[in-house]
Amino acid sequence: MRVCNRCRKETERMFCPSCHVLTYPPRAAGSAPISAAGEFFDTTIWQGPNRSRGIEVAQNERDKYFSKKQDLVVLHIEGRRTVATLGSQFWKKPAVIKKAVDDAGRDQLVKFFEKHHLLPPAQSIKEKGIVDTVVFEVVVPCEEFKIVVTERKGSGAEEDT
Ligand SMILES: [Zn+2]
Repeated sequence: MRVCNRCRKETERMFCPSCHVLTYPPRAAGSAPISAAGEFFDTTIWQGPNRSRGIEVAQNERDKYFSKKQDLVVLHIEGRRTVATLGSQFWKKPAVIKKAVDDAGRDQLVKFFEKHHLLPPAQSIKEKGIVDTVVFEVVVPCEEFKIVVTERKGSGAEEDT
């Protein structure tokens, strides 16, 4: 049984039939206290052998801000709410989030990577001289996060003063 975060009604569905917000399994007991809301952590871009990309979360932050009991997390990307399924691979190394779909079922992570031209560390250093970083803001520990790209310091041409 799942519970709507807004109206608290119980439902079997992933989204609340009345409020259309994501419902949750009974609250996950992660290691991050509820007071971790508002905290930030940095992640990097991961690239798989088939050139698919994802967001790599460092292990200590994964263990702190995520819970094995909460397999679905909400990611707010560019003002859009998406849902990411962590899966069992997230609890191995590396911990990667590969997909985050919006209400229409479209993956917004790929769009996000393309829009900001985000690259995995080695490639990013080579092309831009910096490591591309995606910042996670904790909205609700283990459940809801907002992700943004840090404004990078321009390396000459793109710099605006
Ligand atoms: Zn509801």
